[in-house]
Amino acid sequence: MKPIRDAWLIQIEVTNACHRCCSNCTRFVGHYQKPFFMDLATVERAIDSLEGFPGGIGIMGGEPTLHPHFVEICDLVRKKIPRKKRGLWTSGYKWKEYQPVIRETFESKVFYNDHTGKDQAHQPMLIAIDDVVEDKPFMWQLIDRCWIQEKWSAAVNPKGGFFCEVAAAMDMLFAGEGGYPLEKGWWDKTPVQFQDQVRRYCPGCSGALPLPRISNQKNQDTVSKSNYERLRALGSPRLAQKGVEIFGQKIPRAEIESVAKNWKPWEYLGEDGKRSSRKLYAGVEYMDSPSLYLQLKRKMLQVAHKLKKTFS
Ligand code: SF4
Ligand code: SF4
Repeated sequence: MKPIRDAWLIQIEVTNACHRCCSNCTRFVGHYQKPFFMDLATVERAIDSLEGFPGGIGIMGGEPTLHPHFVEICDLVRKKIPRKKRGLWTSGYKWKEYQPVIRETFESKVFYNDHTGKDQAHQPMLIAIDDVVEDKPFMWQLIDRCWIQEKWSAAVNPKGGFFCEVAAAMDMLFAGEGGYPLEKGWWDKTPVQFQDQVRRYCPGCSGALPLPRISNQKNQDTVSKSNYERLRALGSPRLAQKGVEIFGQKIPRAEIESVAKNWKPWEYLGEDGKRSSRKLYAGVEYMDSPSLYLQLKRKMLQVAHKLKKTFS
C-alpha cells in the first residue's frame, strides 16, 4: 500500500444518491435505506482539511449533481481549491441544468461516464476476502497490494477521512465507526499509520482479489456469505428485491496465483486508452480528459506487472 499523501486524488463524496443502480457499484448504491447528502459546512471542512495535499481533489457521489446544494458546492470548490486540482466525477444526470456552473468550476476536468454501455462492468467489492481465502498470511499479502488503494483514491465522506474510497463506502454501508476526523493533514499517514482502517475494512472487501468484472446491467450484486448476512441485518432494499447473489466458494491460493498472472484490471480502459476514451465519450459534447485516462492506464499496468512478477 502507499501513503495517502501519494494518492493521485482524494474524493469528497458529497452524496451516495444515484439515479442508476449498477451491479456491484463501488459505492453500494441500492443497499441504503436512505442516501446521505453532505452538509455544506462539512464540505467546507473537508476541503480545508486537504490543504497541502499534493494530489487532486475530486467531487464525487453517487451522482454529485443530485445534491440539492450542488451549485453552492461548486462555489466552495472555486473559492477554496486551486483550479488545476479540481475534478468532477459525474454520470451527467443534470448536465443540461448545471453545464455552465460545471464548466466554470471544473473546466476540462469533468470525468464523465454514464455507466449505460454494454461494456460497462465492475469488479465485485462485497466478496469478503476473509470468507474466500483460507490462507490468511496470503490474504494479507494480497490486501497489501490492493490495486484500488494503489491506483485509485482516498476519500472523505460525512463520517470522516479514509485511506481508500471503497473503505469509506463500506463504513457508510455497514454503519462502521467512522473515518479520521477532518483535521488539517489527516491524510498525511503512512500504511503503518492507517492499519487500523486496513484491518477494519479490507477483510470484508474483494478489491484485492483478482476477480473478473461483471456487467453493470446484471441487476445483481455478487456477495459472499458474511456480507450477505450483514446486508440482511441492515435491511438492504437491493437484497429484498433479490438483487443479490451469493458467492459461497473458497478460492484456493493456486487459483488466485494463476488468475493473477493474466489479470488485467485496466481492461475497461481498453487496449488503447485513447480509443477507449473516445468510445466512452462518443457523441457526448463534454468529452473530457482522455489524457488522464491514459495516465491511469499506465499506472494500472505498473500494478499488474508487479502482481505478475510476484506470482511467476
Ligand atoms: S452510476 Fe456510479 S454511483 Fe451510480 S450506481 Fe452506477 S456505479 Fe454506482
Ligand atoms: S481491499 Fe477494499 S477496502 Fe481494502 S484497500 Fe482494497 S479496495 Fe480498499
